[in-house]
Amino acid sequence: MSKKIILITGGAGFLGCNLTRKLLEEGHKVIVLDDLSTGRLQNLIDFEKNENFEFIKHDICDPIDVRADWIFNFACPASPPKYQKDPIQTIKTSVWGSFNLLELARKYGSRILHTSTSEVYGDPTVHPQIETYRGNVNPIGIRACYDEGKRCAETLFFDYKRKFDLDIKVVRIFNTYGPYMDPDDGRVISNFVVRALKGLPLEVYGDGKQTRSFCYVDDMIKALLLMINSNSDVIGPINIGNPGEFSINELVKVLESLFAKKLSINYKNLPQDDPMKRKPDITLARELLGWEPKINLNEGLENSVKYFRSVISEYNADPFSCDSCLQ
Ligand code: UDP
Repeated sequence: MSKKIILITGGAGFLGCNLTRKLLEEGHKVIVLDDLSTGRLQNLIDFEKNENFEFIKHDICDPIDVRADWIFNFACPASPPKYQKDPIQTIKTSVWGSFNLLELARKYGSRILHTSTSEVYGDPTVHPQIETYRGNVNPIGIRACYDEGKRCAETLFFDYKRKFDLDIKVVRIFNTYGPYMDPDDGRVISNFVVRALKGLPLEVYGDGKQTRSFCYVDDMIKALLLMINSNSDVIGPINIGNPGEFSINELVKVLESLFAKKLSINYKNLPQDDPMKRKPDITLARELLGWEPKINLNEGLENSVKYFRSVISEYNADPFSCDSCLQ
């Protein structure tokens, strides 16, 4: 494959840094752009001395002029507590940030891949979710800054395609987990694993019967690479996620077997508009990209526990109270 100049916005975050590693391994030049509002510089430390790597601290809400063959747009806080902290900034990042990147792609004729989300389906009434389903989003709820921001970004991408024939690609990412997730991210897998490692009770929101489908990060990165390398008539939106569906209570059970002990639980109120079920229909990804996830929840969680264990011991003075967790 010929060497490409690749701009990754939000590249200091969980998915962005995993993708950066892979693209640098493939010999590309990678420019990471991140405002570090939720991304972390320590995610990029391994690349510091790589001559093909560059970091620019920048908020995509401000225009930027960087020539790139490919652009991946990951910029936006993605965990509910993080994107709800400054909801107006979240909308701006999704919508105005996308506008700036689309203008950049237009100027240099770049191929641009946008990471949309399963949240465009809201609290779905169609199950599993297929790309043609138009969703069930509360436009004035506390999740709307993210859901509607991402929906509007999709609109913008498709309008740029129609109006300027821009080389766009849109994927809808379902819940993803694995190494380089921020331990303080606030999402269910990072929260549960970190709390289990610290010997704290897990906090289950609601009755724990709500479901999610969890995709391991390596599978996700493979799909993103297949998508960016696909023919220009493969535009999307395409669901990318693992169709294995687990209730939050079932997730607790999987973790209990991994930690080989009973984990204590505190039940908390279910946040407003929390979707009751979620599972991707990945027929399109199978057909158009020849992709399907390979790593099951057990294996993925084992790797994640190892990662969180190392991160917590590096960055957190709290002693572990869990002797039986994975070594
Ligand atoms: N959740 C939970 N405990 C936590 C964090 C999340 O029970 O410590 C629940 C949350 O209410 C939701 C599910 O787990 O039903 C997944 O939440 P997450 O924030 O990971 O992602 P999203 O809701 O965006 O899919």
